[in-house]
Amino acid sequence: MSALLPGAATLGVLGGGQLGRMFVHAAQALGYRCVVLDPDAISPAGAVAETHIRAGYLDPVGLAQLARDCDAITTEFENVPAVALQTLAGMRTVAPAAEAVAVCQDRAVEKAHFEAAGVPCAPHAVIADAAGLAAVDAALLPGILKTSRLGYDGKGQVRVATAAELAAAWDGLQRQPCVLERLLPLRAELSVLVARGADGRTVHYPVQQNLHRGGILAVTEVPAPDVPAEVQRQAVAAARQVAGALGYVGVLCVEFFWVQEDGAAGGGRLVVNEMAPRPHNSGHWTMDGCDHSQFELQVRALAGLPLPEPRQHSAAVMLNLLGDLWFGDDGGPTPPAWDRVLALPGTHLHLYGKAEARHGRKMGHLNITAATPEAARGVARQAAALLGLPADF
Ligand code: ADP
Ligand code: MG
Repeated sequence: MSALLPGAATLGVLGGGQLGRMFVHAAQALGYRCVVLDPDAISPAGAVAETHIRAGYLDPVGLAQLARDCDAITTEFENVPAVALQTLAGMRTVAPAAEAVAVCQDRAVEKAHFEAAGVPCAPHAVIADAAGLAAVDAALLPGILKTSRLGYDGKGQVRVATAAELAAAWDGLQRQPCVLERLLPLRAELSVLVARGADGRTVHYPVQQNLHRGGILAVTEVPAPDVPAEVQRQAVAAARQVAGALGYVGVLCVEFFWVQEDGAAGGGRLVVNEMAPRPHNSGHWTMDGCDHSQFELQVRALAGLPLPEPRQHSAAVMLNLLGDLWFGDDGGPTPPAWDRVLALPGTHLHLYGKAEARHGRKMGHLNITAATPEAARGVARQAAALLGLPADF
């Protein structure tokens, strides 16, 4: 495919959330026009795109309009029906491909892909039916039962300690296909973003260290403060391996656990957790800490433009801003004291334009950049204190 040149093409996005919005911002900066397809009348990405097609993801009329108006199309969320991407792929360039997205939509298939690519994942069993439940090895307990499909931000997951709890938890999940994973002692959680072009050229960002609270990403730090260089090298190699084995085109985020293991080199073992076929929350720091953001590389990969090796120019910390911050002592919703936060050096606020703050809802993120990791963390802790967030990083 020849490149879709900036200023002379239109890019489409399935999904109108914050990832779509930041993709649109990056695409428009390069001079592309953007079309977003999302069923909601009010959407963060639809509000900034030149055109918002308000239609369901399987609506043939909406999909046909998207294909007619756009030269190339991507998705901003992994649960877009694969058939929608397939339909579009018959008419236009689509990246990532439906087949790659489909792998990411199902934890059992995803884990099989990791293993086939030679990248170890957590010990697990697939529970597709009652026989699968009965066959579970007791060595997987205590564990976490996860629905194979549609889980995110810790939703669709139950921690279980015994076979009886496992059976009850599976009943509670309506006996839908699940994966049981052994509960691992995590030393750290990491993720690696890669961008791969249609020509196979693959570039990557530095390893990101992630702190989750209640199953939701809370803080990302780059460089990763607690992880030896050799482990970081392994994570990058594994992420590139996973993307290559998928023949992936676009930005892919691969999440890892660095697991406590006495006797292992460096005191730990790296296992892959899951992946997302798109820019990722843990990569939002790239908007201010790198010369090319993850969204710009997604635009470039989709348009067939050259993929530069991104360079981190500042140490960075990202704080996720959930709707809870809008509900202080006064009951709210009231916006946090951004004026005080933005008085701190190297603070970059990104709000997603969501109409209403709700508990647990991703409203924005704050990037803190500095010359050194210590300085970035120091300011991030001050910002956290102003916002009433824990400074547990
Ligand atoms: P989601 O799709 O909700 O992000 P994950 O599989 O990434 O699902 O799980 C969410 C979080 O739960 C992880 O980031 C990690 O903190 C914790 N977790 C998940 N699986 C395990 C495991 N096998 N052992 C220990 N902690 C886990
Ligand atoms: Mg996850």
